[in-house]
Amino acid sequence: MGKLIQLSASNHFGDCPKCKKNDGHLNVGRDHWYYCKRHQVKWFVGSNIFPDWLDETFDTWRQNEALLECFMEIEPLQKHKFTVDENEFFNSRRKTQLQMLLLTDEHLK
Ligand SMILES: [Zn+2]
Repeated sequence: MGKLIQLSASNHFGDCPKCKKNDGHLNVGRDHWYYCKRHQVKWFVGSNIFPDWLDETFDTWRQNEALLECFMEIEPLQKHKFTVDENEFFNSRRKTQLQMLLLTDEHLK
């Protein structure tokens, strides 16, 4: 899947575990669902977080509900769960910091 790291505000609400993206949210009443059209998955993010549901109609919610019905509910990939690449990055940094600490210790002896 390449090395694309999506750092947008939207992935605060999680991403599709397969493509690490999302297609935004759909409202069913005051409930917000994030979804990925490509992989036909959805995940619930909360109620009354985005104000746009107030401008929508019952018809829109019925359409959204019908669309979401075909999608599988899954656990999204959350922002705070690091990818393998990110872990490697942080681990290498940590090692460097440790090495620097050790060097400083040696120096003080
Ligand atoms: Zn996807």
